[in-house]
Amino acid sequence: MNNQVLIVEDENDTVELLRYNLEKENYETLIAHNGVDAIDAVQCHEPAVVLLDIMLPELNGWEVCRILRESSKGKEVPIIMLTALSDEEARIKGLALGADDYLSKPFSVKELLLKIRKHIDRQQAIKQLRIREWEQETSLRYMVHEMRNAMAVIGGFSTLALKKNDPGNYLKPINTAALHAECLLNDASLLARLEKRGGFLPTEAIDIVALTKDVVEMLRDTAKKTQIEMADMKSAPPCVAANRTAVRQVLLNLLSNAVKYNGEGGKVWVSFDERNDLMDVAIRDEGCGVRRDELPRIFDKFYRAAGSEKVKGAGLGLYIVKLLMEAMGGKISVKSDKGAGSTFTASFARADVAASRLDAQDKEILSANF
Ligand code: ADP
Repeated sequence: MNNQVLIVEDENDTVELLRYNLEKENYETLIAHNGVDAIDAVQCHEPAVVLLDIMLPELNGWEVCRILRESSKGKEVPIIMLTALSDEEARIKGLALGADDYLSKPFSVKELLLKIRKHIDRQQAIKQLRIREWEQETSLRYMVHEMRNAMAVIGGFSTLALKKNDPGNYLKPINTAALHAECLLNDASLLARLEKRGGFLPTEAIDIVALTKDVVEMLRDTAKKTQIEMADMKSAPPCVAANRTAVRQVLLNLLSNAVKYNGEGGKVWVSFDERNDLMDVAIRDEGCGVRRDELPRIFDKFYRAAGSEKVKGAGLGLYIVKLLMEAMGGKISVKSDKGAGSTFTASFARADVAASRLDAQDKEILSANF
């Protein structure tokens, strides 16, 4: 969190007093002895709070306040003006020009620290609120856009089928679009529930190899030029403790990414590995890969790695995968590098191991639809 306080003051004694008390409370301090330097410091460092004296050489505090409020980087920074105790007019002028607060000289250090804390906390809360609003808006825009596309396909092709009295030829795109729309709606309601409550999904013993085969078959049609190879397990694989619908969604998201971020004619390999109490399903592709420094962020909501703009997506797929895997008590991991392809591994608990550990009383089960 940003904890830089910019002290704009030309009297060295006051600067030192402020600096000493702020650094004692673990704030970082920046000093500007005149108004011009203060404006530069805000543009360069974007401090969390500005303590602004009025009587300054070159530009006075009111001018600095006005200029900052008109600049993109200074328009929201909390400004606390330092005024003389008796100077009511100066206080009013500062507040009218956009200062958030004032402190009368000689000031109480306790009051100063309280005011700084209050303004930093408020600014932080506003930022969080904006991020949440942005996320909600982006989700909604994405949903509306995708649903509109799906409905256009369903509407267009069904009209054609009716006109030509030949539904057979048009059923496939209608079906694909309807399934996509259904997935979107499922994603939205699932995300809302998982984000709100966390919690666990009900699990059962699942033959993960058979389920993966089903999903791969489902995708073969849309994968077109991408070849998907699935390794066979030599010995009979153990069942995993998982949720069938969630696993299907996890595999669909991972496999469709492996296809869409692959080069023309690229390959995808699906393999299984049993290790200790876990069963890994690895999906490897020879596509564009992800830069290592970006890897930790690709599971974040709406994050899209650099260079993904040409590929259709909203940056929600891996976020959903992560939430679903966690809700089943599993784990998702990735190995990748730019230009070197990617391997996503979904690790599930073996059903026999999970059964012995299950303590249902401690867990909140998310039930509806799952
Ligand atoms: P979307 O594909 O809709 O952008 P995801 O959440 O599924 O969203 O993926 C997040 C980002 O991770 C993608 O934008 C892409 O940059 C990167 N990514 C995911 N899977 C792969 C992959 N198999 N190969 C390369 N990059 C990938």
